[in-house]
Amino acid sequence: MTPPRLPLARYVDGVLGGDTAILARAITLVESERAADADAAAALLDAVLPHAGRSRRVGITGVPGVGKSTFIDALGIHLVRDRGERVAVLSVDPSSPISRGSILGDKTRMERLALEDGAYIRPSPARGFLGGVARHTRETILLCEAAGFGTILVETVGVGQSETAVRSMTDFFLLLLLPGAGDQLQGIKRGIIEMVDAIAITKADGDMLALAERARVEYQAALHLFPAAANGWNPPVVTCSAVTPAGVGDIWDLVIEHHARMVANRQLASRRRAQSIEWMRELVSTEVDAAFRAHPRVADALPALESAVAEGRTTAFAAARELLTLFRG
Ligand code: GDP
Repeated sequence: MTPPRLPLARYVDGVLGGDTAILARAITLVESERAADADAAAALLDAVLPHAGRSRRVGITGVPGVGKSTFIDALGIHLVRDRGERVAVLSVDPSSPISRGSILGDKTRMERLALEDGAYIRPSPARGFLGGVARHTRETILLCEAAGFGTILVETVGVGQSETAVRSMTDFFLLLLLPGAGDQLQGIKRGIIEMVDAIAITKADGDMLALAERARVEYQAALHLFPAAANGWNPPVVTCSAVTPAGVGDIWDLVIEHHARMVANRQLASRRRAQSIEWMRELVSTEVDAAFRAHPRVADALPALESAVAEGRTTAFAAARELLTLFRG
C-alpha cells in the first residue's frame, strides 16, 4: 500500500531538511502516473528547483556482471567515509514490464552502502523504460540535490537506450568493462565510446590483475582512434578493484578534475542547459505521442494503415500524412 499523499509544504520542508523518509515519498509522488498527482509533483519540483543543481552527477554503465553494484558500493563507501560526501544512488533499469523481471533489481545490492547514514539508494521500479523510470530520473536527481546530496550516481545496464538517457542527465559518464576481453570493444556500440568520459576495467585483483592491465593498454590505444572530444578531455582508461579497493578513489579524482575543468570553461552550465532543453522537448514529444495514440480516429485507423505499409500497399509517407490529418481534424 502506498501511504497517502502529504500536503505540499510537508514534502518541500522534508526534502529541504534532508529527511530521507519524506524524500522517498516525494520521489514516489514525482514518479506517479496518476493524473491527480501531476499538479502536486510539478509544484514540488518548482519549489525545490532553486535548491537543486549543486551536485556532481555521474552516470555508470556496463553489462550485467561487470561489477556495477559492487563498484558503486565500494565507491559510495569511500565517498561517505573518506570524503564526507552524501551520496544518492539511482538506477535506470530498462527491464521489460512484461517479464516483470528486473536486471538490476532482484538480488540485494549495495548492502554495505545501504547501511551508511550519508547514503540514499533508490531502487528502480521494474516498469516500462522510456515512459517510466528514466522519465522521472531527472526529477529524482533534482529532489536528491535539494535534499543535500552532493553526489548523484545514476546506474544503468548497458543495454537498449538507457546509456543515452543516462548520459543526457549526468555530467560525467563512466563505462565499466570486464578484464581480458580485449575484443569487447568491437561489440560495444561506437556511440557509447563517443559518450564516455572514462573507462574503468573492473576486477583488477588477484588472478585477473595482469589481464586487466593488458585490457587497459588495449582500450587506451583503441580510444586514440576516436576523434578527441570538443572540450579537450581525453577519456582515460583505468583499472580498479571493488574488492581491494585499488583505483576506486583515483576514479573519483578523475571525476573531480573533469568537473573542475567543466566549471572553469563554463561547459558544465552549458551542458546542463542543453540537457534541460532536450528534456523539455522529450517531455513534450512523449505527451504529444500519447495524445496521438489515444486519439479515437487515429486509434481506429492505425492497425489497418500499419498493415498497408507493411504489405507495401501504401507508402509510410502517405500513411503518416493520413494519420496526421485524422489527428489534426
Ligand atoms: P553487476 O551485475 O554489474 O551489478 O555486477 P555485480 O556487482 O553484481 O558483480 C558481479 C560479480 O562480480 C559478483 O560475483 C561480484 O562479487 C564480482 N565482482 C564485482 N566486482 C569485483 C572486483 O572488483 N573483484 C572481483 N574479484 N570480483 C568482483
